[in-house]
Amino acid sequence: MRIAVGGIRHETNTFSPLYTTYDDFFIARGPDVTGDGLVELARREGAELVLTLVASAYPGGLVRADAYRRLKRELLAALQRALPVDGVYLDLHGAMEVEGIGDGETDLSTAVRELVGDNVPISVSLDLHGNISPAFVANVNALTALRTAPHRDGPETRRRALAMLIRALREGLALQPVLLKIPLLLPGEAVMTATEPARSLYQRLPALAQEPGILDASLLVGCAWTDSPYTTVSVIVVGVGDEAAARQEAETLARAIWSERRAFRFGHETAAADEAVVQAMAAALAPVMITDSGDNVTAGGAGDTTYMLQSLLAHGAQDALLAGLMDPIAVQQCASAGQGARVSLLVGGRSDPAHHGPLSITGQVRWLGRAAGEGSGEPTMATVACEGVTVLLCSDRRPFVDRASMAQAGVDPMQQRIVVVKQGYLFPDLVDHAARVIMALTPGATDLKLDRLPYGRVPRPIFPLDQGFVWEP
Ligand SMILES: [Zn+2]
Repeated sequence: MRIAVGGIRHETNTFSPLYTTYDDFFIARGPDVTGDGLVELARREGAELVLTLVASAYPGGLVRADAYRRLKRELLAALQRALPVDGVYLDLHGAMEVEGIGDGETDLSTAVRELVGDNVPISVSLDLHGNISPAFVANVNALTALRTAPHRDGPETRRRALAMLIRALREGLALQPVLLKIPLLLPGEAVMTATEPARSLYQRLPALAQEPGILDASLLVGCAWTDSPYTTVSVIVVGVGDEAAARQEAETLARAIWSERRAFRFGHETAAADEAVVQAMAAALAPVMITDSGDNVTAGGAGDTTYMLQSLLAHGAQDALLAGLMDPIAVQQCASAGQGARVSLLVGGRSDPAHHGPLSITGQVRWLGRAAGEGSGEPTMATVACEGVTVLLCSDRRPFVDRASMAQAGVDPMQQRIVVVKQGYLFPDLVDHAARVIMALTPGATDLKLDRLPYGRVPRPIFPLDQGFVWEP
């Protein structure tokens, strides 16, 4: 039994002013493709994996057409070389949007289907933030998605997708995936799977997959920042031979989600930017961590909006850290001035001038350097002490999701009263070390106030943009 493995993974934020280019993708080829126990699983099952390539990039703006076409060409060529195969496992995200092409997974799965023909089953693993098109589901035979957010179950989800494919091949099963789209737009920050109502909904999935005639069930939250005709919450149930059973289970789950639509809540307390700063300054315990949720770099934010920095400076915040702000020009100016120099800079707001524009600051360059693993060369990060605020500038979009990433830039978040990061929900290391977390509802490409975003392509009506309409699966 020969199974080809490959994929192109991207979570596209169409509200980002930045494009995702070929160079933004990290491409694992051949033996580097898998570290998730897939090879061991296949070996136990007597299957041979042909590892082609898996390309993935940080969440970001629309994928450039030339970048996607080149990646697709490389993947199809590698799959072609792998032929003949008995099955294909695709490692995808599910929310890729390509300039001039539209839904990336639809286009890619169409091409893979054409290449391998109708008789080779295709199984797919997805992120639960995927936006799923009916045509994509029609192109493949089995799909399964992550069941945790924040994500902890990537490896087991991939193994589940592969195991489903091996079982289908071995037992000669005809798989029937059923997709139900629910007209619901949910930001990821409102669906943390350890919190109700998501917790109970996700807990249903493993049991559902044990029902007769059902092989797997998934609940996809979708990516609310992809303005696409397929951006909704989705339910996928993979049936064996009996589409009616799978459809019935999908409808039951979809009804349960719809009935809970008003119950999804943010996992952290929320406040407007200024209010978050005022509350953090008055807090008895430190550090208070504020997430600049409208410019969430881990969900495709530009990484350089200046709302929070302006608010910190305007309120005279002391012992505050902003980690980080993307501005390659300012980093270079700090490097030219040298450590200890006083500098006047225009920072941020360059890639996303629609959201605030650059801010003028004056301060002292405290630290210059590069992250571990970046080797030697020009500094890629600088810190500037500006009144009571330390501004961590970086030359590219990078998330500071833990204390270690900030320590690499010479700052200790635990010594601050206030730490602002460009995230949505905080990553575990920061949650565990914050005295308090406030999610600031700032504007930007990852605005959590969905009614402030210029949607044009999502299906209508959709809750909560539209209210008071009736929906039945
Ligand atoms: Zn995700």
